[in-house]
Amino acid sequence: MASNTVRIAVLPGDGIGTEVTEATLGVLEPLAKRHGIGISTETLAAGAFHYQATGDAFPEASFRAAEAADAILLGAMGWPGIRKADGTEIAPQLDLRFRLKLYAGVRPVRAIPGVPVALADPRAAGIDFVLIRESTEGLFHSSGKGLVTEDYAEETLRITRATTEKLSRFAFRLAERRAAKRGRKGRVTLVDKANVFRAFAFMRGVFDGVAREFPAVESAHHYVDAMALDLVRHPWAFDVLPTENMFGDILSDLAAGLVGGMGFSPSADIGDDHAVFQPAHGTAPDIAGKGIANPTATLLSAAMMLDWLAARGAGQGFADAAAELEAAVDGAFAAGLRTADIGGPDGTAAVARAVAARFGA
Ligand code: ATP
Ligand code: MG
Repeated sequence: MASNTVRIAVLPGDGIGTEVTEATLGVLEPLAKRHGIGISTETLAAGAFHYQATGDAFPEASFRAAEAADAILLGAMGWPGIRKADGTEIAPQLDLRFRLKLYAGVRPVRAIPGVPVALADPRAAGIDFVLIRESTEGLFHSSGKGLVTEDYAEETLRITRATTEKLSRFAFRLAERRAAKRGRKGRVTLVDKANVFRAFAFMRGVFDGVAREFPAVESAHHYVDAMALDLVRHPWAFDVLPTENMFGDILSDLAAGLVGGMGFSPSADIGDDHAVFQPAHGTAPDIAGKGIANPTATLLSAAMMLDWLAARGAGQGFADAAAELEAAVDGAFAAGLRTADIGGPDGTAAVARAVAARFGA
């Protein structure tokens, strides 16, 4: 990666995907100037409306350009009523996940000061954990290829040693970095169902092997059903939570609900050489075009992107910009910013303005 200048492939997609992406790019520009970091962006065509217009949901040229970029920033894709000829949904983000082998679906779940949390307990203000959803195998191994007969249907759960080792190492390294920042010991809790499925007992065994490489980080296991309960009872108790694909899919929506909803849920899909940063939400047809979509999730995803680029050698300026962007989001909400999804008056552009104003833009 060329030092200090990065190329970002931008896939705004459909519906509010385009709105939250535009707002985020508008914040990144003054942020980059301020930190003296070079960010060049290239906007690429893909998504449901592109499919409707051209018959191609994800042109190979867009994929190639995304693959060649240093990082990928994605809005959201898909639209009700627009489906491929075979009836499947339009989801280029899934193509990216599989083609670029983005095994770690990283979903930070953090209470933002001023944003109402779902729990009355004052400790809920301290919710700060990260779900890591394995994103290439698990129960999604056979998705779209499951066996359906007249009398039964069957899908396959697949857990591999190679992916579990990578996922576990990713989780422990993340816990180390979080521990260094927060000045306390990190803890990685594998979420599984090892009491019932041999595949999860296998996953646990592989995870435990990796845990031994990280003696400074605590390691634990939790059954997924108990985790669903405990994420509601005491979510502030958790740190880094790697889990299987389907469990992560479900728990990350539950987790988003704890801290203000989808508009506050950033995510990153990370592989060995590529990463896609996007809000966890979809295209929200019900509110698209109204200027009221909450861009916070995308702004926080962009902060994750800057941090990831810094860790890959783009330079300290990127890490500083990431920290400032996150602090600016927190500061804006702490100062009274209230988006429509939490019952407030502030639309997409107002959030971008308020966040940029925090760092003097
Ligand atoms: P997908 O299938 O892509 O996950 P979905 O059907 O789960 O999509 P979303 O598009 O994520 O749905 O929207 C779910 C609900 O949350 C909708 O009512 C939508 O308006 C709301 N929502 C999602 N994202 C935002 C946002 N950024 N700001 C405000 N509301 C949002
Ligand atoms: Mg959804």
